[in-house]
Amino acid sequence: MMAPTSSTTALAQLRKLEIILAHAGTENPAGDAREILAAVMSCQPNLLRLKYETILSSEQLDRSVSMAKRRASGEPIQYVLGMWSFMGRDYKVGQGVLIPRDDTEVLVGEALRMIRSVPRPRIVDLCSGSGIIAITLAKELDATVYAVEKSGEAFAYLKENITLNQADVKAIRADIKDCVVDFGDCSLDMIVSNPPYIRSNDIADLQNEVQYEPRLALDGGESGYDFYELIIRLWTPKLKDGGTIAFELGEGQFDYVANLLKAAGYTNIIGYPDIQGITRAVTAEYGERLTKNG
Ligand code: GLN
Repeated sequence: MMAPTSSTTALAQLRKLEIILAHAGTENPAGDAREILAAVMSCQPNLLRLKYETILSSEQLDRSVSMAKRRASGEPIQYVLGMWSFMGRDYKVGQGVLIPRDDTEVLVGEALRMIRSVPRPRIVDLCSGSGIIAITLAKELDATVYAVEKSGEAFAYLKENITLNQADVKAIRADIKDCVVDFGDCSLDMIVSNPPYIRSNDIADLQNEVQYEPRLALDGGESGYDFYELIIRLWTPKLKDGGTIAFELGEGQFDYVANLLKAAGYTNIIGYPDIQGITRAVTAEYGERLTKNG
């Protein structure tokens, strides 16, 4: 017997999903409806228009409605889709791992620019999450890249994303405080990190979608600076002379982090703006030699 079919077209279903999302007051009902339907039809959202006449199966109808309902209840679209892209590559995401953000392109772009001239660099990405930073660096460079992640849930996504992207990244499930001893002094060309940087008390005020994201990936302690302080203190000895550190920053955090870096012996401390003009990343170079020679 043939599987039951419907007579509902993609276009009709798109309108239905839009209504579900609009009634719930979601920010971008038309865009989210397209993303959901495209995912269910395994096509690119920008090709959906070519498939408006396609008759959907009842499975596709049901699945798209249940995804729209999840989105309507406030879950981020990225988790509903289970997949999100960053700098041209796809990553699996879901509750338990921070969603890749375009903000992080600033950090990755500058890190790449700083390290390109170093032959076969050794790089560590701390608080790696879904692995977007480590994986992009590994794919763009001939490098040895380590990715450190403490959360078991996030680590599962990290491993899956390494495989999905066929990236040569060594994933380490550990607390950054513990695994630092496994790295030799003066052994790294670059330390890169998008650490948790939101002040603990500010998390509740962030938009509804962010409340679905793991607190562990957001909470930077009372001041927001816990991880910058920890990483600079514990990991700086692991950098080679002339090595680079590169951090993503929260809004307004540049001056404080720049001072931490300066006090720890870093020079050439530079901040980089995102498209909104917020200083979103900082890079600095480490070296006794550099400091002494001015
Ligand atoms: N950019 C994230 C936010 O503003 C925070 C990510 C982080 O703490 N590293 O929600």
